[in-house]
Amino acid sequence: MNDSTTLAAYEKLHARAKEIALVEGATALLNWDEETFMPRGALPFRAEQLAFFSGWTHRQFTAPEVGDWIKACEDHGFAPDSAESANTREWRRSYDRATKLPSELVEEFNRTATLARDAWAEARKRSEFVHFQPHLEKLLQLNRQMADKWGYVECRYDALLDGRERGALASELKTLFAEFRPALVSVLGPAVERSRSVSENFLEADYPIAAQQAFNREVAEAIGFDFNAGRIDTATHPFCTGLGPGDTRMTTRYNERDFTESFYGVLHEAGHGLYDQGLKVEHHGTPLGSACSMGIHESQSRLWENHVGRSVAFWEHWHPRACHHFPTLKKFSPEQIVRAINRVAPSFIRVEADQVTYDLHIILRFELELKLIEGDLKVADLPAMWNEEFEKMLGLKVPDDARGCLQDTHWSLGAFGYFPTYTLGNLNASQLMQRATQDSPQLETELRAGRYANLLGWLREKVHVPGQRHAPQELMRRATGQATHSEPHLAYLRRKFLGA
Ligand code: ZN
Repeated sequence: MNDSTTLAAYEKLHARAKEIALVEGATALLNWDEETFMPRGALPFRAEQLAFFSGWTHRQFTAPEVGDWIKACEDHGFAPDSAESANTREWRRSYDRATKLPSELVEEFNRTATLARDAWAEARKRSEFVHFQPHLEKLLQLNRQMADKWGYVECRYDALLDGRERGALASELKTLFAEFRPALVSVLGPAVERSRSVSENFLEADYPIAAQQAFNREVAEAIGFDFNAGRIDTATHPFCTGLGPGDTRMTTRYNERDFTESFYGVLHEAGHGLYDQGLKVEHHGTPLGSACSMGIHESQSRLWENHVGRSVAFWEHWHPRACHHFPTLKKFSPEQIVRAINRVAPSFIRVEADQVTYDLHIILRFELELKLIEGDLKVADLPAMWNEEFEKMLGLKVPDDARGCLQDTHWSLGAFGYFPTYTLGNLNASQLMQRATQDSPQLETELRAGRYANLLGWLREKVHVPGQRHAPQELMRRATGQATHSEPHLAYLRRKFLGA
């Protein structure tokens, strides 16, 4: 095949990807609208619209001519470091995954998940696992079928994991967590002791929503979020979504007695938003213009939320501005605020967990879902196993399934292999922050002065701009010199929570 034919194939592929990205942007807007402003009565019509668009994009991408174009590009072989080569590699990966599933299986999975989500919400409200049990059994069975179609080398779980974290293996996660867990537990005891003097509701007071909105926006802008290309709205479950170039939407929720809920929600989502705003516009719609993986995405939210936003340096700088918006905070010193927002205490709910216990919640879920997928744990035995393992890990007796195995929505969506990316995000965040500080020794002084441009610039170069040019672990190696490991995060936790 000659060069002009290859070029034509690549251009056709590129044009198809751009068309799909246009429709996906519209789909993301419909999803955002569903979570923010849509009247409830529109739900059946919205579901029909979303199903139509997802079917359309799947057909456009899995059409036989797309396979021919990818093949033509592969046969030609672009220069190894070129954008064309990286895009072709990633299109091949996505194409093979998408075409391995018959559309009937995709449809059945989506139908089952829609019903399961509804049953889960009801089961959680009543704290009755049996109500959700048959749905979870069906979703597991479909996940196993899909994993078998996608294929794997070591275990089924890997095929599911690969859809969220390219190249990750359950065996590697097991090794990583086996080291991480006991080290985390060794931090937990003394950290809880040091937090005993801080009461749970230390900062509770009146924080008007308008003042929260003003403070949240001021800080998000200061760290670099571009409000000319994004906005913040209200939703029950905070999230951030990129609709396309120049349009990144975040959401948060407000508690008038606790400003930290909306504030840390915004800092977390702004971390995701900065990643989205840092992707190259000229690569929009192609793998090079897309985020690398979920574990890399989560590293960005955790870095801004925890490493920047929950630090002494942050509160030393922002205390006057926070007091301007919330005069009630004047009675607390920056040190008191930092101690309150970093209080460590085992609790039942993952999303409310502190930085030390958070990953124990994740490791528990990873171990259980791995057993479920591999057939080593029956769904009927899940609640008992959850409660037993939870008590071993965090020393608390789970009072009911609503505060136990029914608390998260992920399994009801059929999303297995998702939870471990949260811990990868925490580990990656510490590792990236450690390296950024080594690369720019003046960074700590800058953060104390509320100057974030150099940190953001470093993240743009090492993490945002490459898109999917490298697989996640290759990106980590290039940015920090090593693949994801737990030592930088443990060192950070020991320094922060034990003063060690
Ligand atoms: Zn996140």
